[in-house]
Amino acid sequence: ATPTAVMVATGKGASLGVLIKGGNALENAHKVKTVVFDKTGTLTVGKPAVVSSVLFSEVSMEDFCDLTIAAEANSEHPIAKAVVEHAKMLRQKHGSQNDQFSEVKDFEVHPGAGVSGKVGERAILVGNKRLMRLFNVPLGSDVDRYVSENEHLARTCVLVAVDGRAAGGFAVTDPVKPEAALVISHLHSMRISSVMVTGDNWATANAIGRQVGIQKVFAETDPLGKADKIKELQLQGTSVAMVGDGINDSPALVAADVGMAIGAGTDVAIEAADVVLMKSSLEDVVTAIDISRKTMSRIR
Ligand code: ADP
Ligand code: MG
Repeated sequence: ATPTAVMVATGKGASLGVLIKGGNALENAHKVKTVVFDKTGTLTVGKPAVVSSVLFSEVSMEDFCDLTIAAEANSEHPIAKAVVEHAKMLRQKHGSQNDQFSEVKDFEVHPGAGVSGKVGERAILVGNKRLMRLFNVPLGSDVDRYVSENEHLARTCVLVAVDGRAAGGFAVTDPVKPEAALVISHLHSMRISSVMVTGDNWATANAIGRQVGIQKVFAETDPLGKADKIKELQLQGTSVAMVGDGINDSPALVAADVGMAIGAGTDVAIEAADVVLMKSSLEDVVTAIDISRKTMSRIR
């Protein structure tokens, strides 16, 4: 595209809240044949909330809440924030007056799995099944049932283990964005296919995928795994756009032919992207591709 065409198109984009960072992004976007979406914060609202809790052992509710809060208060993960808020509420409901909680030692973050630490002499784990497997926590049929029931409802389960035994858990929901399903069907009508990549588990990912009509789902992928999926699709000969909001999406945003960051996302994702969707609406994935298609057809 000529410098003038690029200027006109980026100006048009900017007026619509679609920030296109230069000519390359503009020229690549019209060729896109596959759009890959991150799940949390991209297809979903990204504000998880706890909808249920359960105890699996004879631990007291007060202890269960206190230990969970102690471990999760140190995590930056949005799921951790939802869990802490809920555990505080539960503790209050069960008559606890005190708003102090125990301090955690040896705190560790296990990316894509959860957190671990010690409270006094007790070892605490808070995270998904993968974390429990990592620490050889045996999971009974009651745990399995709770997890699978909730995952099929598109919820993510957070399990809590004390001294190597499953103590309880929480189910967390994060609703899909209202425009997600329409945008994905719009892309399909443009002969563009849709894919999801997420660090969350397969059952939850598939349930969210069904809700929005995504054609292909890849779950339990770490940040570099997300980038590898993009490269695999490119090797199959398709031009790929990646839409994401998190630090964990940035390698994939860089690897894609066009990286698109959600405006409300992290600075790292916005840095890594070629296009920023300032209004954080998925509809603007289509807007960006449309602007590029119109610009490129006009000059050819
Ligand atoms: P996503 O792509 O969904 O943002 P992440 O890699 O951040 O995925 O996390 C993947 C999964 O790891 C989460 O869905 C959750 O099950 C688990 N997890 C990670 N951190 C925590 C935490 N602090 N507390 C509970 N669960 C966690
Ligand atoms: Mg995300």
